Amino acid sequence: MIVTTLKPLLAKNRSWALQRRQRNPDYFKKFLHQQKPHSLWIGCSDSRVPAEVLTGSHPGELFVHRNIANMVIEDDDNLLSVLQYALFFLGVKRIVLSGHYGCGGVEAAQNLPGSVLDGQESALARRIQTLRHDIQHGLAESPPSDAEPGEQLDRLVEANVKAQFARLVKSEPVRQIWQSGQELEVFGCVYDLRSGHLKELIHQSAEEPSL
Ligand SMILES: [Zn+2]
Repeated sequence: MIVTTLKPLLAKNRSWALQRRQRNPDYFKKFLHQQKPHSLWIGCSDSRVPAEVLTGSHPGELFVHRNIANMVIEDDDNLLSVLQYALFFLGVKRIVLSGHYGCGGVEAAQNLPGSVLDGQESALARRIQTLRHDIQHGLAESPPSDAEPGEQLDRLVEANVKAQFARLVKSEPVRQIWQSGQELEVFGCVYDLRSGHLKELIHQSAEEPSL
């Protein structure tokens, strides 16, 4: 039976809060008046890729933006406002853009032609159409004949991280920080659902790619 009431979530919440207070009676006090996150996390909304859980982070450590397939689109006010706030008001020095293998968004873009989203007028369909465009070079490459099932999707997931990363490092807020001489490290990563490991694919710390 699927439980749809709030009860189990509230029960887990109370138990978590109690455990925190038992380990450290002042645990919640330090969060009351300010936040000083060390990183901005831009990731996929997928429920299997919870930023804080997989990085072992506590409240106050990550400023988070998640959307389907961790996309960075210039006219997305939601993403852009998070980016501006993180850089200009919170002063984060590190951005982690993370995709993940087995991403349903990337798979939907891969299988878009003839699917229910193909040609549909909805926010979801527009996103997946944009995503397909972002990974078109990867789609054009035919997989090697000895490729394992799912291998092409893995490669497309990595291509998507690189495509979104390229837009992120060219975005106005990121360039402004670098042009003003402030420190900012931007990482493109991929999370492996099979091992639980996050790995780095690409990194940039100045306006021009580091050699
Ligand atoms: Zn995903």
